[in-house]
Amino acid sequence: MKKAMQKTIFTVLLIILLIFSGCADRKNDLAVVQLTEEISITEIEENVFVVTHSFPWPGNSLFLVLDKENILWIDTPYTPEATARVLDWIEAEIGQDYSITEINTGFHIDNLGGNQELIKRNIPIYGSSLTGELLEKQSRITMSKMMNWLKGAQNAKYRAVYSDFQFFRPTRTFDINEDQRLTVGSEEVIIHYPGPTHTYDNLVVYVPGRELLFGGCMILSSDADKVGFAEDGNLQEWAKSLLKLEERFESIRIVIPGHGNPGSSALIEHTKDVVDAALSD
Ligand SMILES: [Zn+2]
Repeated sequence: MKKAMQKTIFTVLLIILLIFSGCADRKNDLAVVQLTEEISITEIEENVFVVTHSFPWPGNSLFLVLDKENILWIDTPYTPEATARVLDWIEAEIGQDYSITEINTGFHIDNLGGNQELIKRNIPIYGSSLTGELLEKQSRITMSKMMNWLKGAQNAKYRAVYSDFQFFRPTRTFDINEDQRLTVGSEEVIIHYPGPTHTYDNLVVYVPGRELLFGGCMILSSDADKVGFAEDGNLQEWAKSLLKLEERFESIRIVIPGHGNPGSSALIEHTKDVVDAALSD
Protein backbone atom coordinates (compact mmCIF):
# COMPACT_ATOMS: atom_id res chain seq x y z
CA MET A 1 0.00 0.00 0.00
CA LYS A 2 2.68 2.44 1.04
CA LYS A 3 4.77 1.51 -2.00
CA ALA A 4 1.81 2.00 -4.32
CA MET A 5 1.26 5.46 -2.84
CA GLN A 6 4.90 6.40 -3.32
CA LYS A 7 4.72 5.20 -6.88
CA THR A 8 1.63 7.32 -7.54
CA ILE A 9 3.27 10.42 -6.07
CA PHE A 10 6.38 9.76 -8.11
CA THR A 11 4.32 9.37 -11.30
CA VAL A 12 2.40 12.59 -10.63
CA LEU A 13 5.63 14.49 -9.99
CA LEU A 14 7.13 13.08 -13.16
CA ILE A 15 4.11 14.17 -15.19
CA ILE A 16 4.22 17.67 -13.69
CA LEU A 17 7.94 17.88 -14.48
CA LEU A 18 7.36 16.74 -18.05
CA ILE A 19 4.54 19.25 -18.55
CA PHE A 20 6.67 22.12 -17.27
CA SER A 21 9.80 21.19 -19.18
CA GLY A 22 7.61 20.78 -22.27
CA CYS A 23 6.28 24.31 -21.80
CA ALA A 24 9.75 25.69 -21.31
CA ASP A 25 10.92 24.01 -24.50
CA ARG A 26 8.08 25.41 -26.52
CA LYS A 27 8.74 28.86 -25.15
CA ASN A 28 12.40 28.60 -26.11
CA ASP A 29 11.46 27.37 -29.56
CA LEU A 30 9.23 30.39 -29.99
CA ALA A 31 11.86 32.83 -28.82
CA VAL A 32 14.96 31.79 -30.79
CA VAL A 33 15.10 29.55 -33.83
CA GLN A 34 18.59 28.60 -34.98
CA LEU A 35 17.76 28.07 -38.63
CA THR A 36 21.31 27.27 -39.73
CA GLU A 37 24.71 27.75 -38.15
CA GLU A 38 24.65 31.28 -39.57
CA ILE A 39 20.99 32.31 -39.34
CA SER A 40 18.92 32.79 -36.21
CA ILE A 41 15.39 34.15 -35.91
CA THR A 42 14.39 35.70 -32.58
CA GLU A 43 10.82 36.68 -31.77
CA ILE A 44 11.55 39.76 -29.66
CA GLU A 45 7.86 40.43 -29.05
CA GLU A 46 4.69 38.96 -30.45
CA ASN A 47 4.91 38.83 -34.26
CA VAL A 48 8.17 40.82 -34.36
CA PHE A 49 11.18 38.80 -35.50
CA VAL A 50 14.85 39.78 -35.66
CA VAL A 51 16.76 37.76 -38.27
CA THR A 52 20.47 37.65 -37.52
CA HIS A 53 22.76 36.47 -40.29
CA SER A 54 26.42 36.02 -39.43
CA PHE A 55 28.36 36.08 -42.67
CA PRO A 56 30.76 36.49 -41.05
CA TRP A 57 29.67 39.55 -39.05
CA PRO A 58 26.28 39.29 -37.35
CA GLY A 59 23.79 41.64 -39.03
CA ASN A 60 20.10 42.19 -38.30
CA SER A 61 17.06 42.41 -40.47
CA LEU A 62 13.57 42.59 -39.00
CA PHE A 63 10.22 41.24 -40.07
CA LEU A 64 6.82 41.97 -38.60
CA VAL A 65 3.79 39.80 -39.12
CA LEU A 66 1.33 42.67 -39.27
CA ASP A 67 -1.88 40.69 -39.65
CA LYS A 68 -3.08 37.48 -41.30
CA GLU A 69 -2.03 38.64 -44.76
CA ASN A 70 0.90 41.02 -44.51
CA ILE A 71 4.53 40.82 -43.53
CA LEU A 72 6.89 43.79 -43.53
CA TRP A 73 10.59 42.92 -43.84
CA ILE A 74 13.21 45.60 -43.25
CA ASP A 75 16.65 44.89 -44.72
CA THR A 76 17.76 41.38 -45.68
CA PRO A 77 20.39 38.83 -44.72
CA TYR A 78 23.75 39.22 -46.55
CA THR A 79 23.01 36.72 -49.32
CA PRO A 80 20.15 35.55 -51.57
CA GLU A 81 20.67 32.00 -50.24
CA ALA A 82 20.16 33.03 -46.62
CA THR A 83 17.18 35.14 -47.66
CA ALA A 84 15.65 32.10 -49.37
CA ARG A 85 16.10 30.07 -46.18
CA VAL A 86 14.24 32.66 -44.14
CA LEU A 87 11.45 32.96 -46.73
CA ASP A 88 11.06 29.17 -46.74
CA TRP A 89 10.87 29.22 -42.95
CA ILE A 90 8.21 31.93 -43.06
CA GLU A 91 6.17 29.83 -45.52
CA ALA A 92 6.48 26.70 -43.42
CA GLU A 93 6.04 28.18 -39.94
CA ILE A 94 3.96 31.31 -40.40
CA GLY A 95 2.00 30.67 -43.58
CA GLN A 96 2.08 30.60 -47.36
CA ASP A 97 -0.50 33.24 -48.09
CA TYR A 98 1.31 36.32 -46.89
CA SER A 99 2.25 39.17 -49.09
CA ILE A 100 5.63 40.51 -48.11
CA THR A 101 6.81 44.10 -48.42
CA GLU A 102 10.53 44.81 -48.16
CA ILE A 103 12.37 48.04 -47.32
CA ASN A 104 16.12 48.48 -47.91
CA THR A 105 17.66 50.98 -45.46
CA GLY A 106 20.96 51.44 -47.27
CA PHE A 107 23.26 50.23 -50.05
CA HIS A 108 25.59 48.04 -48.00
CA ILE A 109 25.40 44.28 -48.42
CA ASP A 110 23.99 43.82 -44.89
CA ASN A 111 21.01 45.95 -45.94
CA LEU A 112 20.15 44.47 -49.30
CA GLY A 113 22.35 41.48 -50.16
CA GLY A 114 19.21 39.34 -50.40
CA ASN A 115 17.40 41.47 -53.00
CA GLN A 116 17.99 39.00 -55.84
CA GLU A 117 15.91 36.36 -54.05
CA LEU A 118 13.17 38.86 -53.17
CA ILE A 119 12.92 39.95 -56.81
CA LYS A 120 12.76 36.29 -57.88
CA ARG A 121 9.74 35.89 -55.60
CA ASN A 122 8.05 39.09 -56.81
CA ILE A 123 8.40 40.84 -53.47
CA PRO A 124 8.30 44.64 -53.85
CA ILE A 125 11.42 46.37 -52.50
CA TYR A 126 11.21 49.97 -51.33
CA GLY A 127 14.40 52.00 -51.20
CA SER A 128 15.72 55.45 -52.01
CA SER A 129 17.01 56.30 -55.49
CA LEU A 130 20.24 57.36 -53.75
CA THR A 131 20.67 53.74 -52.61
CA GLY A 132 20.42 52.68 -56.27
CA GLU A 133 23.00 55.31 -57.29
CA LEU A 134 25.42 54.35 -54.53
CA LEU A 135 25.13 50.69 -55.51
CA GLU A 136 26.28 51.74 -58.94
CA LYS A 137 29.05 54.15 -57.89
CA GLN A 138 30.31 52.92 -54.56
CA SER A 139 29.52 49.27 -53.89
CA ARG A 140 32.54 47.83 -55.77
CA ILE A 141 34.90 50.04 -53.75
CA THR A 142 33.22 49.13 -50.46
CA MET A 143 33.26 45.44 -51.37
CA SER A 144 36.98 45.51 -52.14
CA LYS A 145 37.62 47.01 -48.69
CA MET A 146 35.50 44.29 -47.17
CA MET A 147 37.47 41.62 -49.04
CA ASN A 148 40.61 42.95 -47.35
CA TRP A 149 39.13 42.05 -43.95
CA LEU A 150 38.43 38.52 -45.13
CA LYS A 151 41.92 37.17 -45.48
CA GLY A 152 42.97 33.66 -44.48
CA ALA A 153 41.68 30.14 -45.04
CA GLN A 154 38.93 30.50 -42.44
CA ASN A 155 37.32 33.22 -44.59
CA ALA A 156 37.51 31.38 -47.91
CA LYS A 157 33.80 30.62 -47.92
CA TYR A 158 32.91 34.30 -47.55
CA ARG A 159 35.39 35.38 -50.22
CA ALA A 160 33.89 32.83 -52.62
CA VAL A 161 30.46 34.45 -52.22
CA TYR A 162 31.58 38.09 -52.10
CA SER A 163 34.26 38.18 -54.80
CA ASP A 164 31.76 38.37 -57.67
CA PHE A 165 28.67 39.37 -55.72
CA GLN A 166 25.83 40.75 -57.82
CA PHE A 167 23.83 43.57 -56.33
CA PHE A 168 20.19 44.29 -57.13
CA ARG A 169 18.58 47.68 -56.68
CA PRO A 170 15.37 48.33 -54.80
CA THR A 171 12.44 48.09 -57.21
CA ARG A 172 10.26 50.88 -55.79
CA THR A 173 12.40 53.94 -55.40
CA PHE A 174 11.68 57.35 -53.94
CA ASP A 175 13.43 60.64 -53.21
CA ILE A 176 15.40 60.15 -49.99
CA ASN A 177 14.49 63.60 -48.69
CA GLU A 178 10.77 62.91 -48.67
CA ASP A 179 9.30 60.80 -45.89
CA GLN A 180 7.46 57.79 -47.27
CA ARG A 181 4.25 56.74 -45.56
CA LEU A 182 3.24 53.24 -46.54
CA THR A 183 0.10 51.50 -45.46
CA VAL A 184 0.81 47.80 -45.19
CA GLY A 185 -2.39 45.97 -44.27
CA SER A 186 -3.85 48.29 -41.69
CA GLU A 187 -0.49 49.37 -40.31
CA GLU A 188 1.10 52.72 -41.04
CA VAL A 189 4.84 52.65 -41.71
CA ILE A 190 7.08 55.71 -42.05
CA ILE A 191 10.40 55.61 -43.91
CA HIS A 192 12.56 58.54 -42.86
CA TYR A 193 15.97 59.96 -43.70
CA PRO A 194 17.42 62.16 -40.93
CA GLY A 195 20.57 63.05 -42.93
CA PRO A 196 23.98 61.44 -43.50
CA THR A 197 25.14 59.00 -40.82
CA HIS A 198 27.00 55.71 -41.13
CA THR A 199 26.36 56.07 -44.87
CA TYR A 200 24.88 58.89 -46.94
CA ASP A 201 21.76 56.83 -47.64
CA ASN A 202 20.89 55.05 -44.37
CA LEU A 203 17.17 55.25 -43.60
CA VAL A 204 15.12 54.39 -40.53
CA VAL A 205 11.71 52.75 -40.50
CA TYR A 206 9.18 53.75 -37.83
CA VAL A 207 5.98 51.87 -37.07
CA PRO A 208 3.86 54.36 -35.06
CA GLY A 209 1.25 51.79 -33.96
CA ARG A 210 3.98 49.87 -32.14
CA GLU A 211 6.36 52.75 -31.35
CA LEU A 212 9.02 50.63 -33.00
CA LEU A 213 12.05 52.05 -34.78
CA PHE A 214 14.28 49.99 -37.04
CA GLY A 215 17.42 52.10 -36.78
CA GLY A 216 19.63 49.93 -38.99
CA CYS A 217 23.31 50.70 -39.29
CA MET A 218 23.03 54.34 -38.08
CA ILE A 219 22.19 53.00 -34.60
CA LEU A 220 24.74 51.11 -32.51
CA SER A 221 23.84 48.46 -29.96
CA SER A 222 24.58 49.10 -26.29
CA ASP A 223 27.73 46.95 -26.31
CA ALA A 224 29.21 48.67 -29.37
CA ASP A 225 31.78 51.22 -28.23
CA LYS A 226 33.24 52.02 -31.69
CA VAL A 227 31.59 53.37 -34.81
CA GLY A 228 33.05 50.59 -36.95
CA PHE A 229 33.37 51.07 -40.71
CA ALA A 230 32.32 54.66 -41.39
CA GLU A 231 34.22 55.50 -44.58
CA ASP A 232 31.00 55.64 -46.62
CA GLY A 233 29.43 58.08 -44.16
CA ASN A 234 30.05 61.33 -42.33
CA LEU A 235 30.82 61.43 -38.59
CA GLN A 236 30.07 65.15 -38.16
CA GLU A 237 26.71 64.87 -39.83
CA TRP A 238 25.97 61.57 -38.09
CA ALA A 239 25.71 63.22 -34.66
CA LYS A 240 23.49 66.00 -36.05
CA SER A 241 21.27 63.54 -37.90
CA LEU A 242 20.68 61.61 -34.67
CA LEU A 243 19.48 64.81 -32.99
CA LYS A 244 17.05 65.30 -35.87
CA LEU A 245 15.92 61.70 -35.54
CA GLU A 246 15.08 62.21 -31.86
CA GLU A 247 13.08 65.29 -32.73
CA ARG A 248 11.25 63.56 -35.56
CA PHE A 249 9.96 60.60 -33.52
CA GLU A 250 9.09 61.46 -29.95
CA SER A 251 7.70 58.20 -28.69
CA ILE A 252 10.01 55.30 -29.34
CA ARG A 253 9.57 52.20 -27.22
CA ILE A 254 11.96 49.83 -28.95
CA VAL A 255 14.92 50.37 -31.27
CA ILE A 256 16.44 47.67 -33.45
CA PRO A 257 20.05 48.39 -34.45
CA GLY A 258 21.71 47.00 -37.58
CA HIS A 259 24.02 44.88 -35.46
CA GLY A 260 23.59 43.57 -31.90
CA ASN A 261 20.67 43.51 -29.50
CA PRO A 262 17.55 45.69 -29.62
CA GLY A 263 17.10 48.26 -26.89
CA SER A 264 15.17 51.38 -25.92
CA SER A 265 15.52 54.88 -27.36
CA ALA A 266 18.63 55.11 -25.16
CA LEU A 267 20.45 53.45 -28.08
CA ILE A 268 20.16 56.73 -29.99
CA GLU A 269 21.87 58.63 -27.13
CA HIS A 270 24.45 55.87 -26.84
CA THR A 271 25.22 56.11 -30.55
CA LYS A 272 25.60 59.88 -30.26
CA ASP A 273 28.13 59.38 -27.45
CA VAL A 274 30.15 56.87 -29.48
CA VAL A 275 30.11 59.09 -32.58
CA ASP A 276 31.12 62.14 -30.47
CA ALA A 277 34.00 60.14 -28.97
CA ALA A 278 35.17 59.15 -32.48
CA LEU A 279 35.00 62.82 -33.54
CA SER A 280 37.19 63.95 -30.66
CA ASP A 281 39.81 61.25 -31.39
ZN1 LIG B 1 25.72 47.40 -41.11
